[in-house]
This record gives sequence, structure tokens and C-alpha cells, in this order.
Amino acid sequence: MNIILLGPPGAGKGTQARKLVEERGMIQLSTGDMLREAKSSGTEMGNKVAAVMDAGELVTDEIVIGLIEEKLEGDHGGGFIFDGFPRTLAQADALGDLLSKHGTALTAVIAMEVNDDALVERITARSTCGNCGEGYNDISKPIPADQKCIKCGASDFKRRADDNEDSLRTRLMEYYKKTSPLLGYYHAKGDLKWVPGLGEIADVAAGINKVLDA
Ligand code: AMP
Repeated sequence: MNIILLGPPGAGKGTQARKLVEERGMIQLSTGDMLREAKSSGTEMGNKVAAVMDAGELVTDEIVIGLIEEKLEGDHGGGFIFDGFPRTLAQADALGDLLSKHGTALTAVIAMEVNDDALVERITARSTCGNCGEGYNDISKPIPADQKCIKCGASDFKRRADDNEDSLRTRLMEYYKKTSPLLGYYHAKGDLKWVPGLGEIADVAAGINKVLDA
């Protein structure tokens, strides 16, 4: 099973992808995570994309398609969750070609339904454990008073450099201009499934599982 989680920044794609990895043994392919890793380890590509990412703009199709291409060479296991990819029509076409080259295809594209006010609130409040990736929210799931991650016990919490109001405005505009046309693209292919994305994490996950089990 190969699925895309599609939605604006802050919709909860990463959170839901991590749940699917735990529950279904799928492989999460997040181009945002791959690019952040390249940026923090200071590779040539990481240095090239750093300013673009911090500003909230999209990096080139060529770079992200190359990243995904490499990962598809590996183990197919329980299938892939594409998280934050594709973000343009060119990326969507490339993904279709790559999957068919590997003798596989998309099972579903899950569109997460949210509203912009909730996104701003979520993004400006969020942080993650730098060790295990567990997500926190200042309002609904604050970092424990003892400053230890509830999952792994580490005390290394991080906020993303692009989780500020300026970058967020650009990220939302990039989403509406370049990524939201994918909703029509996948609808026309018969792959698009809408899931309410505003509820509790478990309720959103239940909606996704209902689609996947249908
Ligand atoms: P994300 O973690 O998915 O929110 O991505 C963080 C940033 O990485 C984005 O704002 C872009 O600058 C870059 N990025 C991630 N995925 C892509 C993609 N598929 N295409 C272009 N840029 C991307």
C-alpha cells in the first residue's frame, strides 16, 4: 500500500505518518525531514536549500524528486507514506512514473481537511523531541515540567526554524499556489479521499484507517 498525505503545513501529516509507521509497518518518506537532515549536517545540498526552506519557499523539483528516487530503490516493506511530497504537479507526475518503474502504484491520496486559523495556532505552538521525534503543543500537549520527553526521556526539544509567522505566511501561499492543484489532479485520477483533520490525533487516525481499510 502506497499513500500520500496531502494538506497544508500544520495539517498533521507528520504526526499521522508516524502513527501509520508504528501501526502498519509502513515507511515514512518525508522530504521535509530529509531536507532538514541535509541542512543540519551541512551537506552541499543542505547548504543550498537552507535559506529557501527558512523563508518558507519550495526547493526545486529536481532536488526533491532525486531524494525520493533514492529512497524508492530500498526496501518496499509495508509500503510508503509520502509526507510533504509531492508538492507540485511536476513532482506528482514524477512520482507516478517512479512508482510504475518499480512495478507499483498509489493506493490512495488522503487529503486532510483543516482551516487556516487552526494551522497558525498549531504551528506557532509546536515543538518536537530532537531525539525521537515525539510531537508537543504548548496548549494541548505541553513539554513535561521535568523537561523529559514522555516517549524516550531525552531533554532535547526543538522548534523548527520555519515555524514563525513570516515563513508560515509564505508556506501557506506556496501551498495554495503550487500544491492545492494536486487535489484536482488526484480527484480526476479517482485517488482522492478527504479525511477531517481538525480533531484529536486518534480521531484523525481513525478517519485515515477507515479509508485504508475500505
Ligand atoms: P515540511 O517539513 O514538509 O513542512 O517541509 C519543510 C520545507 O522543506 C518546505 O517549506 C520546503 O521549503 C521544503 N520542502 C519539503 N518538501 C518539499 C517538496 N516536496 N517540494 C519542495 N520543497 C519541499
